[in-house]
Amino acid sequence: MNKRDFIKQLGLGSAAILSAPVFFQSCEGESGEEKDFKLWVWTGGGNKTEAQWDEELAGLKSLGFFGVLVGGGKPVLEKAIPAAKKHGLEIHAWQWTMNRPGDKTAQQHPEWYAVSREGNSCYDVRPYVDYYQWLCPTKPEVQEFVYNGMMEICDIDGLDGVQLDYVRYCDVILPRGLWEKYDLVQDHEMPEFDFCYCEDCRSKFTSEQGYDPLDLEDPSQDEKWKQFRYDSITNLVNKIADGVHQRGKKLSASVFATPSLARMMVRQDWDKWNLDFVFPMIYYKFYAEDIDFMKRATEEGIKDLNGSKPLYTAFYLADKNNEELKEAIELVRQTNANGMAFYDYGLMNEEFRAIIKEQKEA
Ligand SMILES: [Zn+2]
Repeated sequence: MNKRDFIKQLGLGSAAILSAPVFFQSCEGESGEEKDFKLWVWTGGGNKTEAQWDEELAGLKSLGFFGVLVGGGKPVLEKAIPAAKKHGLEIHAWQWTMNRPGDKTAQQHPEWYAVSREGNSCYDVRPYVDYYQWLCPTKPEVQEFVYNGMMEICDIDGLDGVQLDYVRYCDVILPRGLWEKYDLVQDHEMPEFDFCYCEDCRSKFTSEQGYDPLDLEDPSQDEKWKQFRYDSITNLVNKIADGVHQRGKKLSASVFATPSLARMMVRQDWDKWNLDFVFPMIYYKFYAEDIDFMKRATEEGIKDLNGSKPLYTAFYLADKNNEELKEAIELVRQTNANGMAFYDYGLMNEEFRAIIKEQKEA
């Protein structure tokens, strides 16, 4: 079955649920004090017609979803937005930020790409996977390019906000569950995965701190050099936030599981970002953790945010069975999370839909 047929079949699945008798009734009365647990899902698809979007989003609304994070840029969003409005769903543009594989504009500027501690540019040498081609967040030209692209998307009529993905450095440490896949033991920062050592980053850091990170015996141990890179991403995010907020829209981001892991692995200092809400991707199997990590990591994020913004725990539907999905939602519902986001729509089979609906109403 190709992907389109698969999605089509999912669409029919949702209709089947709709026409079935109401089997999931809430046991709780409407006490009014229980806060709303909002559901989001990542979706996209360049080939979907407006009618297909209408069917898809009607189905999501009937399952109790609150919003969709739609990839594919302007042409896709313009087809999806009317359906989102019609069915009362929030719609945010899902945008890749620093990782820009094959980006036509960026490709014209090889000097924009991040440089590893070994001295290789992501323009020529892609770390780990072919779709990793990272830009340097410190360069003013890169910041302008990224900012302008986000504003162009943000300006689309009817869009509620922008959701940043890949808003970070390349993984200097991969989540523990992925080490075997890449045949690596990453108990230390390896130079080929450590970014960015371009002339601009080094000279800016040197002018601020008086030394070049490349002159350090072990740059991975230098707190100021770490902080410089956290700040480089934070500054760009906050600049985008200013522009999005000026336009009266919302900014969010999908980030690594907890603030401490995110800083250590990808230099994301996300609890400091000026976002409207955040989606920590608590993909516990990638971290070689048990399912209780859904709860522990969610609680850590909430604690570090200290009430500054809503948190929606993101869950990866691949490689999960029905029981794991059910338990994950139960665990997150035991925390003060504001809801959950699911990756992604194409993986939401009929059984998963039923479990999500049941758990939302439980
Ligand atoms: Zn750089």
